[in-house]
Amino acid sequence: MDVNAEALLRQLAHAQGSESTEATEAGEDPRVPLLRALLEQQAQPDEAERADRRERLRQSIARLRAEHRALSETNALLAEALGACDRCWGSDPECEGCEGHGQAGHFEPDRALFNELVGPALRRLARARTRRGAPPPTTTSCHQDDSNHLQ
Ligand SMILES: [Zn+2]
Repeated sequence: MDVNAEALLRQLAHAQGSESTEATEAGEDPRVPLLRALLEQQAQPDEAERADRRERLRQSIARLRAEHRALSETNALLAEALGACDRCWGSDPECEGCEGHGQAGHFEPDRALFNELVGPALRRLARARTRRGAPPPTTTSCHQDDSNHLQ
């Protein structure tokens, strides 16, 4: 609230204190509509501010759409690499793509994508295992069964 509105409120409070009977008998204090209009005017952002808000909102929506698109692409690639349902990853019994069975390995994984996306992580795990003294796995490719190497 700005200084004018506060001053008006003080005046109004003072007037109601000294003329309360008159104000009550005559109805609303004539300054009340003025104060109400002033407060409403302050509550309404001007056109420039509304345009600025719309622009910020438009930019936020564009940014969120771009993020969603990027995340959707990453999700689809990883699901394909792992042979999972890219819609629900097996978490939705109502899923039209997998009926809730689409966890990793439910579909045939894409070998090239698997090696590209998961291979580096498997090699990292293998190096960590070697540093701990465990025997290194024979391979990090999906062409052989690595499941017993990842514990
Ligand atoms: Zn699914």
